[in-house]
Amino acid sequence: SFSTAARQTLKIGLIPADGIGKEVIPAARAAIIALGSDIPKPEFIDLVAGWECFTRTGVALPEDTVQILKDECDCALFGSVSSPSRKVVGYSSPIVALRKKLDLYANIRPVVSVAPEAGQKPSVDLIVVRENTECLYVKEETLTSGANGKEARATRLITEHASRRIGQMAFELANSRPRKHLTIIHKSNVLSITDGLFRETVRAVPSLPGIDGKYDGVTIAEQLVDSAVYRLFREPEIFDVMVAPNLYGDILSDAAAALVGSLGLIPSINAGDNFVMGEPVHGSAPDIEGKGIANPLASIRSAALMLRHLGYTKGADRLDIAVDQVIREAKFLTPDLKGTSTTSEVLEAVLRKL
Ligand code: ATP
Ligand code: MG
Repeated sequence: SFSTAARQTLKIGLIPADGIGKEVIPAARAAIIALGSDIPKPEFIDLVAGWECFTRTGVALPEDTVQILKDECDCALFGSVSSPSRKVVGYSSPIVALRKKLDLYANIRPVVSVAPEAGQKPSVDLIVVRENTECLYVKEETLTSGANGKEARATRLITEHASRRIGQMAFELANSRPRKHLTIIHKSNVLSITDGLFRETVRAVPSLPGIDGKYDGVTIAEQLVDSAVYRLFREPEIFDVMVAPNLYGDILSDAAAALVGSLGLIPSINAGDNFVMGEPVHGSAPDIEGKGIANPLASIRSAALMLRHLGYTKGADRLDIAVDQVIREAKFLTPDLKGTSTTSEVLEAVLRKL
């Protein structure tokens, strides 16, 4: 996390975008306001992006949105984008573009079980640290025709620079947690050059100049990605912080989310050296859009994670504790957690705890 000095106000860009993003981001906003003087006075700036924005204006990520985030905001909360089922000329995902433009190179996804009675596996308390800028997501694909028909290829880029900075963030996080355990995820038995570089670079972080033994207390393990998924389901308690290249991190964090019940609970942040953006892990959930039953807890937890990253530990703790209490009490839960409450009833329950 980076230092935020003493702020009078906290300027938060809000980009609900599409689908249930428009229902859950306002809930996160209300929860932040309820923190009162535990954080600098929040000021919200409403910004647009997404599929609906594209269909209305022809642009998925307006230049204005990016500029205001860069120039005026301390941080941001992003909802979710709908994606067209087929490729549409001129449209590409604004969240992928935002990560690039703001250099948000880390995607951090904590997965914690707080209510085993709601079908969550007990003792899951882990964080997936996913590299956010390269790997197969450079999206360089070609289609050619070979002697036996079409041949499709994709470029997978792994750099020392990106692996080092994601490694540093992962060590920093691991060092801040009670268990101080870091698992490096790769597949270097098959991809010895790309995954080999990732593995070697992350492993070398503790001996970088200036670290001076700071990470001596962190234990380091490695797992091939396939066996990591297996062990995640068999014995999730062995994991604390996991660091992975982009694609493995994407898959692992969705798999980890399945261990604790609902996507509607899992928060994330996209973090760089100068900016942090909270984002629930779930998508736009078109099947429940507009029904008022989207679970707002992933977004409230994303706000907590964003505040924690900015150094506002007290505010972050209060949000997390309130959410945990609401889940444990199980009186006000949305249908994804087998409850019958609406988004606003769950929000009200959180606000009462706050
Ligand atoms: P997208 O393409 O935008 O990701 P999707 O169809 O994959 O859309 P997701 O948002 O990823 O949908 O959700 C997957 C499933 O989980 C859906 O059935 C959805 O209703 C459910 N879900 C996701 N988020 C929530 C939430 N916050 N509250 C309740 N249910 C949710
Ligand atoms: Mg989805």
